[in-house]
Amino acid sequence: MSILKIESLCKYYGNKKNETKALDGISLEVQTGEFLGIMGSSGSGKSTLLNCVASVIRPTGGQILVNGTDIRSLKGAELSDYRGRQIGYLFQNFELLENLTGRENILLPLALHKYEEKKGEQKLKELAAYLEIQDVLDKFPTQMSGGQKQRIAIARALATDPKVLLCDEATSALDPTTTASILDLLKDLNQKLGVTVVVITHQMS
Ligand code: ADP
Repeated sequence: MSILKIESLCKYYGNKKNETKALDGISLEVQTGEFLGIMGSSGSGKSTLLNCVASVIRPTGGQILVNGTDIRSLKGAELSDYRGRQIGYLFQNFELLENLTGRENILLPLALHKYEEKKGEQKLKELAAYLEIQDVLDKFPTQMSGGQKQRIAIARALATDPKVLLCDEATSALDPTTTASILDLLKDLNQKLGVTVVVITHQMS
């Protein structure tokens, strides 16, 4: 079974007089363990697509199945579990909380989703070693480089063992060398950890 199946997805903004068809009937399928890149120019609907998959916005029509479940059928605790545990996100500007350390940023989703503290600490240890971020765990985001911030964000995204990692222009704010190392890392975690990765970008990398 595919991990993500999108069928005839539409998202129209505005009203009849002033309508933007950001997505107009797109279909795609992502298999477990796949690494999918979606490219398109600015305004082509990439963020709209990810926001629909993340269930942040409601599609105008069509279906999104994650592991066979239509995400429109999810409500309350199930929806929160889907957003918080099954999908991981990586953003262009990292979206770290500035008043929390790297460690606290990574542990936050685990606390929100009521993971056992011991389990969380173990997960943090594993991810910190894998991502080589032990030295920055106690720093605040303002004390980190762009690449370090994105590694902390990757650890936060992976902390809940999501099925799919959605990356929205995740390297656009980084210099070419750091971009290459983050892309290598995404490929590695796809191949070694088996995380399904969907990357959207407006550039060839
Ligand atoms: P991309 O991520 O590829 O740059 P977007 O998904 O952000 O594209 O936008 C696709 C189109 O939808 C654009 O024409 C944009 O102006 C429009 N759009 C995006 N969000 C909204 C919104 N909340 N209201 C109205 N139009 C929007």
